[in-house]
Amino acid sequence: MNQKRQSGFALQLDTLRKRLIHEVDSAEESLREDVVKAGDISSLPTHPADADVEGFDVQVAIAQNEERLLEQVEAAIERIPVGTYGVCQLCGKMIATPRLRAVPYAAHCIDCARKERVSIERPVHGEPRHRWQ
Ligand SMILES: [Zn+2]
Repeated sequence: MNQKRQSGFALQLDTLRKRLIHEVDSAEESLREDVVKAGDISSLPTHPADADVEGFDVQVAIAQNEERLLEQVEAAIERIPVGTYGVCQLCGKMIATPRLRAVPYAAHCIDCARKERVSIERPVHGEPRHRWQ
């Protein structure tokens, strides 16, 4: 990948990172406010599912989602100086530029991302898998 294109992605990632930090901050802020309103000022619950505040689960889910995204963005930023930015973390192939334009923090090529998604979309609920007859 040429230097100019890479610095374009770096700039895009930096902008995204700043926005996410702000969003995570305000999401956590509103969560804290909700906890205070609910009369529990001790701390955020360790298990979001335990919270019985209305809408709390949704807010926690949003905050967690943004945090995960922020982690991915920061990981992508760290890959730039190392020279592995734009390289699939699973198969080592270059990630296609259109994909990076759409998802600048992408850590996997489209093929690996598809494979990952397939495995995620097949939940196993502790039941034995069907065997081929
Ligand atoms: Zn790959």
